[in-house]
Amino acid sequence: MKYQSTRDLSCKKYSSAQIIKQGIANDGGLFIPESIPALSKDEISELCGLSYPERAAKILSKFLDDYTYEELLQDCHAAYSESSFVGGAAPLVNVHDNIYSLELWHGPTAAFKDMALQIMPRLLSRSLTKTGEDKTAVILVATSGDTGKAALEGYKDIDKIKIMVFYPVDGVSRVQKLQMATQTGDNVNVCAIKGNFDDAQTGVKNIFANSEVSKKLAENGYFLSSANSINWGRLAPQIVYYISAYCDLISSKDIKMGETVNVCVPTGNFGNIFAAYIAKLMGLPIGKLICASNTNNILTDFLRTGVYDRNRDFHLTMSPSMDILISSNLERLLCFSAGIEKTVGYMKSLNETGRYEIDDEVKAKIASDFVGYFADEEATAKAIKDNYDKYGYLCDTHTAVALDSARQYIEQTGDNTKIIVDSTASPYKFAADVYNSLTEKTPEDALEALDMLSSYTNTEIAYPLKNLAQRKVRFDEVIEAEDMLSAVYSYIDIK
Ligand SMILES: *Cc1c(COP(=O)(O)O)cnc(C)c1O
Repeated sequence: MKYQSTRDLSCKKYSSAQIIKQGIANDGGLFIPESIPALSKDEISELCGLSYPERAAKILSKFLDDYTYEELLQDCHAAYSESSFVGGAAPLVNVHDNIYSLELWHGPTAAFKDMALQIMPRLLSRSLTKTGEDKTAVILVATSGDTGKAALEGYKDIDKIKIMVFYPVDGVSRVQKLQMATQTGDNVNVCAIKGNFDDAQTGVKNIFANSEVSKKLAENGYFLSSANSINWGRLAPQIVYYISAYCDLISSKDIKMGETVNVCVPTGNFGNIFAAYIAKLMGLPIGKLICASNTNNILTDFLRTGVYDRNRDFHLTMSPSMDILISSNLERLLCFSAGIEKTVGYMKSLNETGRYEIDDEVKAKIASDFVGYFADEEATAKAIKDNYDKYGYLCDTHTAVALDSARQYIEQTGDNTKIIVDSTASPYKFAADVYNSLTEKTPEDALEALDMLSSYTNTEIAYPLKNLAQRKVRFDEVIEAEDMLSAVYSYIDIK
């Protein structure tokens, strides 16, 4: 299985180990598989009898053939262990009638990014060996909160890798700050900077762009790498849980083999829903892919009109991980639907004008798989309350956007097909907004909100967020943004 760039008309091929190490193509495009491996009904039946790590290793081995099945199985067992994913890696819960919630947040940071970030660093570590790389990778991350913690948990204590995370000292919540400051692991470092998220991100970008820096790092046995969400190594593990959920529906006799299901995904960067699309192309019987957005509904507009236009207001919402105006992974779908030549044109136009428009043929092709819905803040809060009051199902703000979109889809189409709705974060990750949606009262403090939500709903706080205040703080340094490079040097002992 080889890979190619979404922007390369000559279709140069790369191996799976190479693209995981490299992350993004040199022409700025994203790596996609040259063909999609098939998944037969017999294979689905066989997967039904396996554990999540075994299912994951089987499916990943179709895409990542530089890795042996034994290597993948070992990594999947380590990534999706019972101790990291308490209550299972991706349990499926029937919320009501035809609606099933695929809970992807039982991992170490209580959000769905763990599903990819627990495995991808292990794949990266192996890819360094496989590509003959003798230097140690230094992962630099600028975070506004959640990605930093998920990356720290994923990369901690992985061979041949060190990770350093920068966050704006006043730009993350108290819970997020505590989560990062108390991070364990021998190869991790966390540093707060005076400034906002953009300052942190600019600082990291400048370090990446500085050729003096890469030279000096190379002399000392290091190279820079990113934990970016457009890496195929983060996308491939997300294909697994759609297939796994289908197996679970068969095992529980909720569906018959071959029966079609729909999938509804709370979407930001279009990574998660794109993974569902790949599962469909492999042969998993998926009907519609319902793309759910919050008030930043650029994708809803795109799917309905064929125009992608980022020249619009940006809204801060209670589902912040979906507050995005550039959905990078959409480029992969464009490439599959329109081909490389048109995709290059769309991306050029996006770059120059912030806008592109797909033609009718491409639009019809995308519309045969995808539909778009969105929930504004009011609808999101109502979905949290309704699902709790009517069905006893407690969900976070992102999941609520998807549950409301699924409701709208059923109402408008009358389609009775069962829907797998991705649940992407624990309700405790966004406890204050969830509590407020249920009670119309606003907790004063984010830590207190955890306890208030727990006693109001009589549910347990997700394990990664328990007893945060009692954990040992390991990282309390606050630096000026212009000192970020010297902080990196000092962390890896370069003078
Ligand atoms: C990242 C994230 C999303 C969006 O996923 P994409 O792959 O970027 O579309 C949704 N919900 C939560 C909680 C997230 O962290």
